[in-house]
Amino acid sequence: MAKTPKKNAHPGTAPAAAPSGGAGGSLVPQQTYSNIGTFLRVPRAHDLRGADHVFLGIPYDTATTFRPGARFGPQATRLGSAQLCELKSFPHGFNPLDYVKAVDYGDVYFDHSMPHTIPAAIEETAAGIIKHGCFLTSFGGDHFVTYPLLKAHAAKYGPLALIHFDAHPDTWPETEGKQVELNHGTMFHRAVKEGLIVPSKSVQTGIRTWVDDKMGLTVLDAPFVHENGARATLEQIKKIVGKHPAYLTIDIDCLDPSHAPGTGTPVAGGLTTAQLFAILRGLGRLNIVGMDVVEVAPAYDQAEITAIAAATIAYDQLCLRAIRKGAKSQA
Ligand code: MN
Ligand code: MN
Repeated sequence: MAKTPKKNAHPGTAPAAAPSGGAGGSLVPQQTYSNIGTFLRVPRAHDLRGADHVFLGIPYDTATTFRPGARFGPQATRLGSAQLCELKSFPHGFNPLDYVKAVDYGDVYFDHSMPHTIPAAIEETAAGIIKHGCFLTSFGGDHFVTYPLLKAHAAKYGPLALIHFDAHPDTWPETEGKQVELNHGTMFHRAVKEGLIVPSKSVQTGIRTWVDDKMGLTVLDAPFVHENGARATLEQIKKIVGKHPAYLTIDIDCLDPSHAPGTGTPVAGGLTTAQLFAILRGLGRLNIVGMDVVEVAPAYDQAEITAIAAATIAYDQLCLRAIRKGAKSQA
């Protein structure tokens, strides 16, 4: 049995009365469907003193090349977390919030009518959070948001290994020009050129669209995962990334459209949620310094399939951080 601290230490949660569901500990007694909208019902806070894990929404979707709507991704992902705060975590058997002090920062504010000011607004917000030593989990938004997030993290941690799950490599070349292109398919081309990521330490999984120049990144495409399985894929990722500081970015369209219909640029032939979770749950020993889950577009979703997958991805990584902080997994 995992040792559970007597009192929930994270600030502002409901009183530690025993929940009727019998889960015990600090799980907050509330109807599952009563979630008012922070991720895992953690407190909303801009004061980050005492917090070591921050959830941030980035409701930006005008860099998308096909269906818009990922601006509603943060909201959907938060709501998709509702059932995850009802019980102890699976497969670990602990409440990660007993070990990791987490808050929800709300959404980045930017001026949508001034599009070229938006990358800096995202970068500054992220930098302002991680300077406190917090781990940042961001919810997109389309995948472009990862570019300013990488800038903020690389400024703190140096050039990063990119652990990237996607149907698309997002390394297509930008149109010539000095300004950053607001395009969710080109930002990793720019990130390599700017030295934000280290190609030899970076790996893209689930890819099933073509790019001529892979920019030196290793590609474990979707057929590789289907033919070799999650375990072999995980071993390859661990070998490539090693102990290098790494940024984890999950474009929800890495999943097959049957497992994630609610997204802007779906591609057939993708991963199942079971394959993705099996890989992601094995990343605990890597030195991941930040992460995001992007491209959730709830207008195309069915019965929250996509939002629940996205929320579970973020929750799983929270559990891995809890294990690093002393939680004992019963898995
Ligand atoms: Mn992408
Ligand atoms: Mn994609």
